[in-house]
Amino acid sequence: MAHALFNQEAQSTSPLEKPTAKAGDARDNQQFNAVRDVRRNVEINVGKACNNRCVFCIDGLPKREDRSYMPYEDMKRELDFWYQSGSRSVGFLGGEPTTYPWIVQSVGYAKELGFTRIAIATNATKLRLAHFTDKMLEAGLTRATISMHGHTADLEERLTRVPGVFEKKCEAIRYLAAKKREGFLADGLSVNIVLNGWNYRHLPQMMKFFYDELGLDDLRINFIRPEGYAEGDPDLCPRYPKVIPYLRKAIILSETHWKRQTFTFGGFPLCSLPPSMRDNDALLKKYMGEYRDLSTDCSVRQTGGGFGIEQIEDGRSRFNWQDRKRFDLKNAPSACQTCTKVHLCEGVWKGYVDIHGESEFFSI
Ligand code: SF4
Repeated sequence: MAHALFNQEAQSTSPLEKPTAKAGDARDNQQFNAVRDVRRNVEINVGKACNNRCVFCIDGLPKREDRSYMPYEDMKRELDFWYQSGSRSVGFLGGEPTTYPWIVQSVGYAKELGFTRIAIATNATKLRLAHFTDKMLEAGLTRATISMHGHTADLEERLTRVPGVFEKKCEAIRYLAAKKREGFLADGLSVNIVLNGWNYRHLPQMMKFFYDELGLDDLRINFIRPEGYAEGDPDLCPRYPKVIPYLRKAIILSETHWKRQTFTFGGFPLCSLPPSMRDNDALLKKYMGEYRDLSTDCSVRQTGGGFGIEQIEDGRSRFNWQDRKRFDLKNAPSACQTCTKVHLCEGVWKGYVDIHGESEFFSI
């Protein structure tokens, strides 16, 4: 939908039209959904250093220069640029953004500029430190999205390859949930699970753990993007038909048991869903991330030539995330070229097609 809220003309009338507008221009490339947050979002990558070593990390082993942190002056310049472009939501990403030396100042500067939604995507191990988390909340943090992928220490620590991380994350989530009850985190506290070959069979147990034991009310699953460490790995990247029964069960549980909690999924092609879901607009609008996510731009360190739709300036690659997926990272199966649903579905990760081929996908 157009973002008239910020008096900007959205670019392009067709989501399948390659963008020609400059980075930062609004993009009208998502399907209307009344529950979608209309604030334009930008996600700023602070550097790819991380204190976990997830087996599915898309960064794999980042180059030394990519692990270095973004200078604070560059961060301020990016925040200025995106605020002036109309973004009112900002997310800090890494690597692991809580280890960025100027993260508290960056949150504070974003608030000072006028961003109203200030989020962090984190593995949360540092957020168990109450004095640090308090500083982040007082500086203006309004949302935390925790990357966690298992409901037991064994599963979480096999996936992240860091002994002891499970309990640290649980501690951080309990603390954040308590702060949310005090009135902080107005834009929410969620756990994001990368659904992969090692954890998908446990999806109902993970829902029970995060909702009932840790008291969360927002859970997102994203189907694994098989790049970096997981590239070419059929064990980590299962076929959709194996996973769909568990997704179906999760939605039935959300409709019948955890009705007050939010559950969304991302990265599932529409043609992989059973017709009872695929043809049900109300269900899709409620559960499908592509129908609910904010229009999102990205800013990532880039000193090379880049590829596809990214635009490089000031040592940063800037692109719209929905366009990036649709034109550069997904849309691999030939069926997508003639599919009427590509404006919503975005297609299939290219890495998936490299592993499993494209025979299971069909145009609708
Ligand atoms: S053919 Fe492509 S665009 Fe259409 S539903 Fe399947 S994956 Fe999505």
